[in-house]
Amino acid sequence: MEDNNKVSIGNVEIIALQDGKLNLPIEVLKNLDENQTKELNSKPEENPLTLSNINAFLIKNGNKNLLIDAGCRDLFGASCGFLMDKLNDNGINADDITDLFFTHLHPDHVGGAITENGEVVFKNATIKISGLEIDFWRDGKFEKVDVNGEDFANLAKSVLNAYDKIETIKDQEAIIPDVHVMSLPGHTPGHSGFRIDNGDNSFIHLGDILHTPRLQLENPDVSLVFDVDMEQGLKTRKMMFDMVSKDKILCSSGHMLEPKFCYIEKSGTGYKLSY
Ligand SMILES: [Zn+2]
Repeated sequence: MEDNNKVSIGNVEIIALQDGKLNLPIEVLKNLDENQTKELNSKPEENPLTLSNINAFLIKNGNKNLLIDAGCRDLFGASCGFLMDKLNDNGINADDITDLFFTHLHPDHVGGAITENGEVVFKNATIKISGLEIDFWRDGKFEKVDVNGEDFANLAKSVLNAYDKIETIKDQEAIIPDVHVMSLPGHTPGHSGFRIDNGDNSFIHLGDILHTPRLQLENPDVSLVFDVDMEQGLKTRKMMFDMVSKDKILCSSGHMLEPKFCYIEKSGTGYKLSY
């Protein structure tokens, strides 16, 4: 439903743009409990518990069109790569994007920012990103491994090299007016979400603190091999679940399922979504 994909906080409009969906392989999941392991082994392929969406967001405020993450283009197969269609459905073309914020530089968040030839897709956009994130991928030594290795770093560098206008942004600073960065370390060194506040109304984008919402809300210990620092990522996940449930803050994130906008509340030893 179209309306489930849009909310406003004050004058700021937030539109969820789903780039794609996929089921994550069991091998990438760590710290599953006994019941979860049993359920996943009973249906290893396309188990609903391992479903993950890839989401970008369009934030409109005054003359600013801020894109949050850029999807994965064709890097993950036919079930992904629909960001531009979703933007067009909302009356926005690539050239209308004024600012592009990357929560972090993983392929599913930056792949769609360049073409397969390395050309800029959003040619009027200023990139906004944590300086820690740039330093990590530009200067690190990476091995030839599938996750957080040389291929990830090369794509991150290609994206950074393609754009002329790049501004680093620190924790709590404004990306555009009324939209403030929240540092969420662990998943990657500069990994960040953001928050928008207006009086009693708030919204928080939780970045990639959860990839498989159905498993990680029930059991927040579940972590993924994509975390650069899994222990720190776990701390950040628990801290954020605790904060948004206590403060009853509307949330979404880079891998949230439908509906995109929800509240998180305590349930047993874990959490559940409410709407
Ligand atoms: Zn991601």
